[in-house]
Amino acid sequence: MAETARKIPAPNTTPETAPFWEAAAKGKLLVKTCTTCGRAHHYPRPICPFCGSDRTEWKDSAGRGVIYSYSVMRRATPPYALAYVTLDEGPTMMTNLVDCDFDALRIGQPVRVVWTPTDGGPPVPMFTPR
Ligand SMILES: [Zn+2]
Repeated sequence: MAETARKIPAPNTTPETAPFWEAAAKGKLLVKTCTTCGRAHHYPRPICPFCGSDRTEWKDSAGRGVIYSYSVMRRATPPYALAYVTLDEGPTMMTNLVDCDFDALRIGQPVRVVWTPTDGGPPVPMFTPR
């Protein structure tokens, strides 16, 4: 589809996010989860943003969520849909919505992850309606 033909730059990986991108290369979505307060967060950080604990661990995400908000960039070539998706595990991540009719998107719509190749890096998680 046209919107996925957009060239996606390789993600910027850091020591904190390396496990996330290694899993991404295998098509697995991970979320950092705090073992002190039990909440999951994204982007992955070594310190829990909710309670300040450094006791965090990686957990598998089912890769399903709902659209929290979105904006269609119609003047881009090709157009694309920038979105915040709230995962079933709790965290909200900035992403793109792909393989869909932009006019049919709505807030709260259920979506699932699709891995989108990047220019020389691991694939990035984007989402499509389910
Ligand atoms: Zn916490």
